[in-house]
Amino acid sequence: MGFTVLRGGRVLDIAAGTAAPADILVDGDTIREIGPPGLAAPEGTVEIDAARRLIHPGLVNAHTHSHGNLGKGMGDRWPLELLLTAAPMLTGHRGLDDLRLSAQIGAIEMMLKGCTACYDLFFEWPVPTREGMATVASAYAELGMRAVIAPMVADRSFYEAIPGLAEALPPALRDKVATLRMAPGAQTIAAIRDAFDGWTADRDLVRPAVAPTIPHHCSDEFILGCAGLARDFGVGLHSHVAESKVQAVASLKVYGKTQTAHLDALGVLGPHFTVAHGVWLDPDDMARLGDHGASVAHNPGSNMRIGSGLADTRAMLERRVNLGIGTDGATCADNQNMYEALRLASLVSKVQGPEWRRWLTTREAALAATEGSARALGFGDRIGRIAPGWKADLVLLDLDHPNWMPLNDPVNQLVHCEDGTAVDSVMIGGKLVVQNRRPVGVDLAALRDRAEAARERLYAANADNRRLYEALEPVVGSYCPGLARMPYHVHRYGARAE
Ligand SMILES: [Zn+2]
Repeated sequence: MGFTVLRGGRVLDIAAGTAAPADILVDGDTIREIGPPGLAAPEGTVEIDAARRLIHPGLVNAHTHSHGNLGKGMGDRWPLELLLTAAPMLTGHRGLDDLRLSAQIGAIEMMLKGCTACYDLFFEWPVPTREGMATVASAYAELGMRAVIAPMVADRSFYEAIPGLAEALPPALRDKVATLRMAPGAQTIAAIRDAFDGWTADRDLVRPAVAPTIPHHCSDEFILGCAGLARDFGVGLHSHVAESKVQAVASLKVYGKTQTAHLDALGVLGPHFTVAHGVWLDPDDMARLGDHGASVAHNPGSNMRIGSGLADTRAMLERRVNLGIGTDGATCADNQNMYEALRLASLVSKVQGPEWRRWLTTREAALAATEGSARALGFGDRIGRIAPGWKADLVLLDLDHPNWMPLNDPVNQLVHCEDGTAVDSVMIGGKLVVQNRRPVGVDLAALRDRAEAARERLYAANADNRRLYEALEPVVGSYCPGLARMPYHVHRYGARAE
């Protein structure tokens, strides 16, 4: 790869709140120099006309699930606990081709909507495999999208994790759900170790991580096994923590303390640790995460869509938590639009009270969706910023689009006006992956045919899982809300007094 120069654009500096005219010289996959228009470039440099374009650092999705993309639109009113109940019907009978297809659909959607990297907690049943990880990795690598891919794992089923839930089920259903547990923990840990040993993808583009899915869905031994893998291979750990109120209350019953306090006691928190959601974190939990340099992937769309609540990002920032922003998967937050996630992150902060000085600023939201998310991905030293020495992950927005008429303030408009419709081109690592609003080298009609064929096949194959969901919905849907009926502080401090 040689040199590329983007000429005539306006380059967004989120921290400074400016978008000054500047040219960007890219050497291979890295930004070499940013200078005034007319910047000198070596002979043979490829020129990209960026006139009437706003260039912003690629948005980084701190939390999604690639397996969700084939299940988009399959549900409406479900809280987290019914979504987990629906998992077999949503993701059952998937093969390697489905893993690949689902990741491709999501990656293309994200890139078309200005996102250049993601943290993907993908799911392979009943145990992650070297082939499965290689399949997901190659789906991203072939499209040229940066990603961290983490197999989502547990050694307890949802029914074992929620106190009393299995006992609340009629015996016939109890027997059926007893089969819904992943492989034994030791086997899962060994399988991930094998996949990491066999990792061949360029770690600068696609790297692995590990995701013990929800702390109390994992034995302590299993969590420590995952943490050991993260340590041995120098990769990230990512877990859904304090997501729904039911989850937070169940954890109090299981541990006698919060999930975060338990993880801290196990010694697994650190700068490589990302908490997904964190809606029900208390101030002590946030301080624990902040003190360990850990991240929260804030998913405001998902938190509202599945009724988890409104996360207090101001309180997190005050306790030095690294804040990233994500969409979450397509079965719990539908689209994979980071502009929407940005706008919602701003709005969710602003809806929490009249003390407007505590509201998240657009600058804070935009920094979270770039530098903050990048840090959560473990890419904090090379993506999320437009600067010499950083990867050339750039989004070109069309300033002739109504979203930008007129251009009053680039950061306010990026967060509150842009919705992805002004994305003209996207570059990842110096390569154009979206050009003239089209994904480069992708046959969308062929992709649609594969998606429809997969939908038809999976719908038929999951008939039993659908019937199982229909039988479970009334029981789980009543038992779980019943667990968390009192205000959270009563559960929290009442539990301590018991
Ligand atoms: Zn998630």
